[in-house]
Amino acid sequence: MTTPTIELKPSASPLAAAEREAILANPGFGRHFTDHMVTIKWTEGRGWHDGELVPYAPLSLDPATMVLHYAQEIFEGLKAYRQPDGTVASFRPEKNATRFQASARRLGMPELPVETFIEACDALVRQDEAWVPAHGGEESLYLRPFMFATEVGLGVKPASEYLFLVIASPAGAYFPGGVKPVSIWVSEDHVRAVPGGMGDAKTGGNYAASLLAQAEAAAKGCAQVCYLDAVERKWVEELGGMNLYFVYGDKIITPSLTGSILEGVTRDSLLAVARDLGYEAEEGRVSVDQWQRDSENGTLTEVFACGTAAVITPVGTVKRTGAEWQQGDGEPGEVTLKLRQALLDIQRGTAQDTHGWMHKLG
Ligand SMILES: *Cc1c(COP(=O)(O)O)cnc(C)c1O
Repeated sequence: MTTPTIELKPSASPLAAAEREAILANPGFGRHFTDHMVTIKWTEGRGWHDGELVPYAPLSLDPATMVLHYAQEIFEGLKAYRQPDGTVASFRPEKNATRFQASARRLGMPELPVETFIEACDALVRQDEAWVPAHGGEESLYLRPFMFATEVGLGVKPASEYLFLVIASPAGAYFPGGVKPVSIWVSEDHVRAVPGGMGDAKTGGNYAASLLAQAEAAAKGCAQVCYLDAVERKWVEELGGMNLYFVYGDKIITPSLTGSILEGVTRDSLLAVARDLGYEAEEGRVSVDQWQRDSENGTLTEVFACGTAAVITPVGTVKRTGAEWQQGDGEPGEVTLKLRQALLDIQRGTAQDTHGWMHKLG
């Protein structure tokens, strides 16, 4: 299949510099969007076509558009960082591109070539480069590639037409006042994903499945939900949108990829960064009972969550039915903070990129 080119049709009236700078001074997360977006269509029998970079604008959809009924949708999330020399580089976009292909396969959707995915992200960042926050802090430009079924009709089948888009949103420091531990509710009633399901695909449906438990967690005073495996309701899987790591002194463990866990790029990167820093890093199984016991006996020294948005978030209070405990002393742990800094330094270009993870804009 041919690789589509992306035709540039930039806006004649991008946001004025002063207004953009006002947004960049306090961008938050996912609240403001840049001047442009990339769109590429796919049609059965024709493949990918009509790649364009156009002004950011609402979409017009027929009420019978398939995605609105059967949720055939996938997405990605990655960040571009301003480097010390003023250039811009994104973090491991090829990992997101290949995961996007895997998600597409799981949802019966066409696979976008890796180089097209990266080119679409690059084209948008190049056009809207002024939206990439200055070097210095933890700010970045968050990229959200996504694809959904655009065929019109209520028959249930893989659609014959899709739209791929990339939009971009400036992202502030996740913890503007300093890194703060998050509280976790371990859900023993609801599961996020099941064996043979689509837990390892990045699709909106998994998020829809998590919202009720998320509301339940909020009612218990917790910020995030931790999901257990669907069969035994025993093994720790992940949070609604972040992977988990358990720190035992100099050893860190993350749950193995079972098919119902999303393979995070941050999770994967931390296995390598931890080894670089001299820690033992492995994948394994941790039960919720072990989590509670080892926290209470002090062998489990820290727990943290990780994902593109927050990089690393320390876990503080943990609650489950009938029990509650505090992870460590309630402050972010030493290993957590070291790993967080090491990964951020690579992303911001202040540490050497020994793994070749940074993708410089050409
Ligand atoms: C995106 C996501 C993650 C984190 O993945 P990163 O590539 O590190 O951002 C973890 N869990 C779920 C369910 C996700 O959707």
